[in-house]
Amino acid sequence: MAKLGSTLQPLQASWNWKQHGTSIVGKRADWWFVIGQSGALQPIVVSAALANLQPTSLEQLKAAILAKRKLYKLSQFDNKNHVLTFSLKADFSSAKNAERVELLVEDLIVSFRQLGLVSGCQLCAGEQALHAVRIGENTAAVCDACHAHLEEQFSGIVEKNEVQGNYLTGLIGALLGALAGSALWLLVSYLGFYASIVGFVIAFLAQYGYRLFKGRVSRAMPLIVAVSVVLGVLAANVAEVAISLVQDPEIGMSWADAIHYAPMALYDTELFYVGQVWGGIAIGMLFAFLGGWRTIRGLIAETRGVTYQIETL
Ligand SMILES: [Zn+2]
Repeated sequence: MAKLGSTLQPLQASWNWKQHGTSIVGKRADWWFVIGQSGALQPIVVSAALANLQPTSLEQLKAAILAKRKLYKLSQFDNKNHVLTFSLKADFSSAKNAERVELLVEDLIVSFRQLGLVSGCQLCAGEQALHAVRIGENTAAVCDACHAHLEEQFSGIVEKNEVQGNYLTGLIGALLGALAGSALWLLVSYLGFYASIVGFVIAFLAQYGYRLFKGRVSRAMPLIVAVSVVLGVLAANVAEVAISLVQDPEIGMSWADAIHYAPMALYDTELFYVGQVWGGIAIGMLFAFLGGWRTIRGLIAETRGVTYQIETL
């Protein structure tokens, strides 16, 4: 599991907040906050849920915070219904990052107090007593009723996942998704560049295909998706060889022959520069790994049931 970053560690210690993964949750004065940072130099995200946020108080709050946006290094301010989210740019100094977070939190408290705003449950906005929980990998402050409700929903999902779906149809879907991603990969490499974002797209489409074809969301899923990504990268490289066999004016093969001969590029050293082909595959695998590992890690968490857990911190 990801560790808490050095910006949030001192805040958690001095405020005596709860922590899970890369985020912390707790109360300052009368208000609950959640603060997270997914990695060093990633934005620091401060959020607060309010029970009685009206459009007019939101406007006033916004004006007060935006007036000092440079001081906080605020890059984004968002509100989804009753949940406010502030993203601060992180720089190299953890101490300065923590100082800016603290300043924002203290200013928010002043504004909340002035505007008569009250903390609310992150899920239902209710004003009932709240407590700190982790929901999957995230932290939150929720009410007892939402906690109980979510727990029930999650146990239903985990039970269902264990019996529903089929690994074989999932594999077919994942392969089709990975092939679609690989076709995109070929297109991009023809435009002359490799990018790890394409690795992400292949992994994303593989898991999307898996779900679309009703694959079982259980233990073997991450492995099936990962294998599909690897096969997708191989297919893209073989297809690249086939295309070059057709397009090379000195070879000028028909498509049928090219598709027949291209897979030999993986092993036939007399006909092909096999080392060069595997070099291309290695680069492809590297980018697929860089772009896809987060997706696979998310699937591992999901299929172990970690995503569908709520627990008091
Ligand atoms: Zn609630």
